[in-house]
Amino acid sequence: MTTPLVFHPIYSQLDLPERHRFPIEKYVGIRDELVKRGVDKRRFVTPSPVDVSFLNAYYDPEYVEALTTGALDKKAMRRIGFPWSQQLIERTRTAVSGTCLTASLALENGKALNLTGGYHHAFADFGSGFCLFNDLYLAAKTMQKNASIDNVLIVDLDVHQGDGTAKLAENDADIFTLSIHGEKNFPHRKQHSNIDIGLAKGTEDDEYLQTLEEALTLALRQFQPDAIIYDAGVDVHVNDDLGHLHISTQGVYERDKQVFALAERLGVPIAAVIGGGYQRDIAALVDVHIQLYRAAGVIN
Ligand SMILES: [Zn+2]
Repeated sequence: MTTPLVFHPIYSQLDLPERHRFPIEKYVGIRDELVKRGVDKRRFVTPSPVDVSFLNAYYDPEYVEALTTGALDKKAMRRIGFPWSQQLIERTRTAVSGTCLTASLALENGKALNLTGGYHHAFADFGSGFCLFNDLYLAAKTMQKNASIDNVLIVDLDVHQGDGTAKLAENDADIFTLSIHGEKNFPHRKQHSNIDIGLAKGTEDDEYLQTLEEALTLALRQFQPDAIIYDAGVDVHVNDDLGHLHISTQGVYERDKQVFALAERLGVPIAAVIGGGYQRDIAALVDVHIQLYRAAGVIN
């Protein structure tokens, strides 16, 4: 079956101050690269903005109201790292909805991928580190609305700890959070995932892939997932501006393969999002993100 791909042009539509470090162009860059490599343009599924009522079910409604209406104070916006705009809210609502749609499509198809997502620094009542609403948590909740899904494993391999996800899911026995990240990196105050592995600066492929294998084995001893959500952040890459790890492009590909192989072995659906990745050279960055789609068998 063809693996669904979720994309909306708004993913890359956000006016940012010059030299802002967020590579907003990468999302459409990934879409274009996939098309260049033979993916039919008509194959992309388009999400609509998420309902505020759905956000309110899992977030502090005061935070949702203040953020969506532009009433959040300057300090809270600084923590998020984007200037407030109506465009930012529309983009975020669509991106978050994209991950939830990806989660639903994964249940139907076994596998589905969003061309954005991984807003793991968003908490129930504040946003942080370019994350406004936590799409990973909402996607887990979306999956659990399906009668066949109780337990959801969130595998977060972005170089930054999935602190918001860990905190949001801390009282959900049916959501298991696994984060492998750089120990000396943002967020400096870590939360408790079910499994946290903090890697040293300069960690290379062999140790990284070995650690992942052991962590997945350990997770499965504690938890039997009915579905997996995967944050495939590529800020682990050696050329990343924020990562401090030394993972090669091939290492990223093998990592992503490992996670998809786990889902296949267990016979459970998997929804993947691209997560973080920060390089000024968008083409170089897209080349690392594209490994996820190679690993999923979407392209060669
Ligand atoms: Zn990151």
